[in-house]
Amino acid sequence: MQTLFPPADQDKIIAAIKEAESATSGEIRVHIEKSCGKKTAFDRAVEIFLSLKMDQTAARNGVLIYLAVEDHEFAIIGDKGINDVVPANFWESTRNVMQDCFRHKNFSEGLVKGILAAGQELKAHFPFQKDDSDELSNEISFGK
Ligand code: CA
Ligand code: CA
Repeated sequence: MQTLFPPADQDKIIAAIKEAESATSGEIRVHIEKSCGKKTAFDRAVEIFLSLKMDQTAARNGVLIYLAVEDHEFAIIGDKGINDVVPANFWESTRNVMQDCFRHKNFSEGLVKGILAAGQELKAHFPFQKDDSDELSNEISFGK
């Protein structure tokens, strides 16, 4: 899976996460794999979310951007702390930005834009705190 994302692209994605997290206390992670199998992208994303222990941030404001490359499926899911305070269509604009890029197979660009959009959306509800710690790794998580 990594081979689809050359190191330069991976660096851009990680840099986008750092940039997004400099504006918000929300913690963004990316998981990329080939296929979500028999599950929906959403259900698979929930599974990954828990396996990456993303439900263990102090403010419950972790966000997972999940991409199943071969299925052309993706999902954005936020933790309880986010869902409690945002409208149901909260991720819609982020999703649209990503969808446009993915349609043209610009996966890295779509992820970068999605991450930055998510950071901007989160900022309003979860502004960056002076005593912020990087609670969840900014590294990309790769599946099979
Ligand atoms: Ca943080
Ligand atoms: Ca982080």
